[in-house]
Amino acid sequence: MKDTYDVLIIGGGFAGATTAWHLSGKGLRILLIDSKPWNRIGDKPCGDAVSKDHFDSLGMPYPEGNQLEQKIEGIKLYSPDEKTEWTVKGEGFEINAPAYNQRILREAESRGVEIMDMTTAMKPIVEDSKVTGAFLFNRRNNSQVEVRAKVVVEATGYSMSFRSKLPLQFPVTEPLDDRDTDIAYREVAYTKDEIEDSAYLKIFVNQHTSPGGYWWYFPKGKNKVNIGLGIQGGMGYPSIQTFYEKYLPQYGQDVDRSNLIVKGGALVPTRRPITTLTWNGIVVVGDSAFTVNPVHGGGKGSAMISGFCASRAILNAFEVGKFDGDTLWEANICYNERYGAKQASLELFRRFLQKLSDDDINYGMKKKIIREDDLLEASSYGDLQLSAADKAIRILSGLGRPSLLFKLKVVAEYMKKIKDQYRNYPINYQGLEKWRSGIYGIMSDFDKSLSN
Ligand SMILES: Cc1cc2nc3c(=O)[nH]c(=O)nc-3n(C[C@H](O)[C@H](O)[C@H](O)COP(=O)(O)OP(=O)(O)OC[C@H]3O[C@@H](n4cnc5c(N)ncnc54)[C@H](O)[C@@H]3O)c2cc1C
Repeated sequence: MKDTYDVLIIGGGFAGATTAWHLSGKGLRILLIDSKPWNRIGDKPCGDAVSKDHFDSLGMPYPEGNQLEQKIEGIKLYSPDEKTEWTVKGEGFEINAPAYNQRILREAESRGVEIMDMTTAMKPIVEDSKVTGAFLFNRRNNSQVEVRAKVVVEATGYSMSFRSKLPLQFPVTEPLDDRDTDIAYREVAYTKDEIEDSAYLKIFVNQHTSPGGYWWYFPKGKNKVNIGLGIQGGMGYPSIQTFYEKYLPQYGQDVDRSNLIVKGGALVPTRRPITTLTWNGIVVVGDSAFTVNPVHGGGKGSAMISGFCASRAILNAFEVGKFDGDTLWEANICYNERYGAKQASLELFRRFLQKLSDDDINYGMKKKIIREDDLLEASSYGDLQLSAADKAIRILSGLGRPSLLFKLKVVAEYMKKIKDQYRNYPINYQGLEKWRSGIYGIMSDFDKSLSN
């Protein structure tokens, strides 16, 4: 069977669903496919916490009814010795991800998007250096379908299962270094007791129990919790399961594992975004485009941003009637302005944090060398601004660890540098190579100064 669409979206997770939602109702013929059956789309291992800001800034509906499990008022962050507790205020939602994801898909469908579940993109169609479609396999009726589209949206999540089959000279095939990943695992279970402060997410930083990552305890109401951990990939650590079994009693005393609802793990990219989200006939979004926040590993909100930016670029491409990489380029500009620049600076912050010892973190949090406000500022804007007024206090409190204070200053400088470089993201593909070597230069100087 053969068919032709304006847009083919491969993957119906948060990124693909948001792209479809923003593109729907605009007169385009759109097909979205997902390998999973309808009732499992959006069902993937996740902490399920999403900041309210993302919904507000993109005009997306808030989760409601069975899509919303807990309104969040902030995060409590614990030092490795758990002697320091910081509270960072910020509204958000602990969601039922499949329910919300499927709602967005249903809304897109009601505005004309065709959705084919249990359908996998097996192979790209590439002609004249351009992506022009895909060969699909539909498991519902065991049929092969050849779909042509003016634009293909690759939203296959961490698997990158479509773009990884493109010719390697296409810049959107950029691979991922294992050390720029987080291996994460979580269980959702009922609790033995009622959860106190269920409106607060809890995060436990500890290099011993979750090297290069953290443990989380995210309430889903008064008697249900999403609990899990992430550790840095590519480091040769023992399996994530080993950590989970060993340290669960420390972080989840009240978890009733005989009342388990779901369990599972997956990988999360924790770096700056892919160098370009677009190439001829294709836009990459979500985890496949490495859009996750490198510090906290939250990727649903930024997947939504990338979907929004992809839809803007695609609508623009249909207005001018051209679908090459440069016409779709607007997706890069939009994403980097809204999130990518901050994300790149947070990659450097992440690299710094992963090198700290528990002693350093205990000391830094206790003495407020880094403070709640700094963290909030860094996670909201990617800036680590150490103001002049604060400096004296920090220098005094940092006297016990002068190297820590010095490194923090270096980190802040490089975070600014890389953010500035992202602000100068090229206006088309021609400028990309030069810009990219600028980024490599900053990254390599940064790594050298951290190891000094
Ligand atoms: C344990 C864990 C905890 C996390 N916690 C949080 C959190 O608390 N908050 C947060 O915001 N983020 C969190 N994240 C990250 C977040 O889950 C992801 O960033 C986000 O869900 C990515 O969405 P996506 O649409 O890009 O990819 P996915 O949700 O992975 O969707 C990809 C879809 O593509 C489909 N697909 C793949 N290949 C094909 C193909 N060839 N053909 C057809 N379909 C295909 C898949 O079936 C899937 O439905 C966590 C991740 C993990 C692993």
